[in-house]
Formats: sequence, structure tokens, C-alpha cells
Amino acid sequence: MEYVSTRNKDIRLSSARAIVRGISEDGGLFLPEYIPELTDSELKSVLSMDYRAAARFVLSRFLTDFTDYEIESCVGGAYTGQKFGGDNPAPVKKLDDDKYMLELWHGPTCAFKDMALQILPRLLTVAVKKEKADKTVVILVATSGDTGKAALEGFCDVEGAKIVVFYPSEGVSEVQKMQMVTQGGSNTCVFGLVGNFDDCQSGVKQILGDSDVIKKLARGGYVFSSANSINWGRLVPQVVYYFTAYGALAKNGEINIGDAVDFVVPTGNFGDILAGYIAKRMGLPVGKLVCASNTNKVLTDFIETGVYNKNRDFYTTTSPSMDILISSNLERLMFMMTDGNAPLVSKYMAQLSQDGAYKVESSLLENIKSVFSAGFADERETAKAIGEAYSKYGYVIDPHTAVAYSVAAKCKTDAKQIILSTASPYKFPKSVLCGIGENADASTEFELLCRLESKTGMPVPPSLACLAKRPVRFADVCKKQQMTERIYGFLGL
Ligand SMILES: *Cc1c(COP(=O)(O)O)cnc(C)c1O
Repeated sequence: MEYVSTRNKDIRLSSARAIVRGISEDGGLFLPEYIPELTDSELKSVLSMDYRAAARFVLSRFLTDFTDYEIESCVGGAYTGQKFGGDNPAPVKKLDDDKYMLELWHGPTCAFKDMALQILPRLLTVAVKKEKADKTVVILVATSGDTGKAALEGFCDVEGAKIVVFYPSEGVSEVQKMQMVTQGGSNTCVFGLVGNFDDCQSGVKQILGDSDVIKKLARGGYVFSSANSINWGRLVPQVVYYFTAYGALAKNGEINIGDAVDFVVPTGNFGDILAGYIAKRMGLPVGKLVCASNTNKVLTDFIETGVYNKNRDFYTTTSPSMDILISSNLERLMFMMTDGNAPLVSKYMAQLSQDGAYKVESSLLENIKSVFSAGFADERETAKAIGEAYSKYGYVIDPHTAVAYSVAAKCKTDAKQIILSTASPYKFPKSVLCGIGENADASTEFELLCRLESKTGMPVPPSLACLAKRPVRFADVCKKQQMTERIYGFLGL
């Protein structure tokens, strides 16, 4: 199977190459030239598998240039019981006969990004070897919180890779900052940046596209790659849990195989929900994919009207990982839904970059609406959802999951709903305490962790509990103009 760019189908390459490159040189994103469809017996078989077996099955369908042994070693190394706090990395909890939670935050950094970022570094190092690139991969990350830590943890001490993370020094939570500045590993480096997330992001993008920097790195034996969800290697592992979640309901007799199930997904960059669409195209009986947004509801408006318009106010919310106005992976959806109409996708993307907006044809919009529904929850509704899940079910959810919980009620169909729970409530103790009606005043966030634990009886994850005591390794805060210099310093160039 080969991969093509969403903007030019003449650009064709292997999956290994697509993973090393991250993004196509024409600005497009890589997708497999077709989606493998499962036979009924294959579907039945994958639905009975445990997580690791299902991951091997799904990955081998897409990474056809990887050997079975390579896939097995990547999967085996990534999804260990030790890293995911038990045998099943993605357990499903039942709230009632219609509502189930797919918990994706049992990994080392307590957010769903771990599901992909624990395996991406392994896929990447195998891919680099295949490409005989013989270079050390440098992962450059701009983060608003969750991605940076998950990437650091995934790449920590991975041979043949180094990682540099920039975060807005005043723009992340205390827990998130401590997670990053206390990071271990001999190949990791973290800098605070004076500025906001956009400054981090534009700085990183500028460096990734700077031919002088790229040449200097090449002379030193280095090559850049991406850990962002534009990278196919980050997307494909996320297809797996749609199958295992459906399988869990089937195994427990909650559904019969073939029954449609809706998935409600708290959405930012559209990566997670796109993985659900890929699972559907492979043959998983998905009813609706419900796209849940916070106050930054650019996707809700798009799915309702067919107009994507990023020219609007940007809100900082209690679900920061969904505070996004450009959802990159929507480009992949449009390619898939137009049978690979690369010129059309290119046209929309050019309009987006020129005018900040585009309108899709009505046939495409109808296609999208036949699979997706959408809704949003504002800040008040999000807090209310945290309170309701707790009072009704004794179940504690974080603000991102709460957005999905709230939208689930608005978009209910006859089908059962699986809500994707994307972060541990302990990553956002203040919002969670407020949501369940507790006092959230404290001098540090760590006090709030303890308060949430004593209130709910749910233990603080060990990786967060020990944070306050860990030594700070990365106290450096730099300016945007100093980013390149800091990278050179770390790489010894
Ligand atoms: C990244 C993230 C999301 C959004 O996922 P996308 O793939 O970007 O749509 C939702 N919730 C949490 C906690 C996240 O970290």
C-alpha cells in the first residue's frame, strides 16, 4: 500500500517514508491510497482481540512495508501494563444502558495523546532505519500543554531520536508545566517561551521550514520530524480503540455485532474523530460520529453549514486542548469523502490560507452530514456536565470529556453512545472541583489534587502525585528570536 498527499496524488510513498516526513512538501497530509475493508469474519475476529492484538492487526493493514516482527515489537513496547496502569490500556466503563465511557488517559502523562505518542517514536525509529536515513531524528514540538509532555515521555531515551519542546511560559497549567520541566531522559530538552501558544507554534513552523537550519542539521547528522497529529504515525494507532471499545460492548452482551454505536469525540485538531471515521470505513458498525467542540465551535458551524470560517474570536477555555481554530485533519476527511479529489482539497486549503474561510459543495456537505453530527458546550454547560456525571453516576470527568458528555445529550440517537474520555480529571483539578461544587481556592494546584482525591476517593495517578517533589531540570525561558540558537545548543551544533 502506498501513501499519497491530499493535495497531489502523484506524490506517492511508503508508510515508513510518510511517517519520517510527517507532512508532504506541497503542504498536504499523507493518507493511504485506499482504506482496507474487513470481511465479516475479520471484523468478528478483531472485535474479540485484546488491545495489543487489535493494534497489531490494524497497524499491519496500513503499515504494509513494516514486517510483522517490527509491528509486534513496536506494539509490545508501547502498550505495557506498567505504562498504562493495567492490562487494558483503554478500558470502557458503563454509565447506564445507553452511555459508556472509553477511558483513554491511563498512560504515563494522563491524557489520550499517550495512546499514539507511546508508539509513534517506535514506529519512527523503525521507519528511519528502513529508509536507511542513518540520521538522528529531531522532534520539534510546540505545545499548549498535553502534547509536549506526551511526546517527551514517548521519545524519552529512544535511540536515534532527540526531542525539543517549547511551551508558552505563562500559558500552561501548573501541573502541565511541572510535568514538562521535570522530564527525565538524556535526549530531551524543554524551553519556556515568552509569548503565547501561537508564538511557539509559528516559531517552530518557521524553523522547520528554514533551509539554512535544515542544512546545518543535516551536516551534523540530524533530520527534523513531527510528533503532531498531522503525522500519519500518530493517527493510525488511534483507529485501534474504536474497535476494542465496540468489542468490549459486544463481549459484555451490551450489543450484538452489527448494531450501530455512536461515538462522541471531544475534538480539536480533528485527529481523534478522523481515526473513528477510518474505523468506520474499514467496516466497524459506527452510527454517528459526534464532533463535540467547546466555545471555539468552528467545527460545529462547519458541519451545520458547510462554511469553515476561522475569522472569529478565539476563546481561552477550561478545555485548552480543544482551543483550536484550524483543525488540520479536516483536510484528510475532505480528501477521503471526495474519493481523493486533490485539486478540490487544494482549492479549499488555498482559500483557507488566503481568506481564512471556504465553503464546501453541497454534495460534500451531505456526505459529511450522513456520517457526522456536531454540537458544542459553552463553559457553563461544561461545568454542569462535570457536576451531573458526578452526582448521577459518581463518575469524575475532566473538562474535555465534559464537553463531549454535554454534547452527547444534545445529539442522542437511538443508538448507544460511547463517549471518548480524553484526560484524567487530575490534570485539571480546579475545573473539576468547581464542577462538582467544591471549594477550588488554594495556593498551589497540588493542594487541589489532594482535595479532589479526598473528596472523590479516586486515587491521584502516581505520575502526578510525585511531581511536586521532582527536581526541575529545565528552567530556561527564552525569546522567540532565540529558539534556533537554543536548539543548536542542545544538539551541540
Ligand atoms: C488533544 C486533545 C483533544 C483533541 O483531540 P484532536 O485529535 O486534536 O481532535 C481532546 N482532549 C484532550 C484532553 C486532548 O489532549
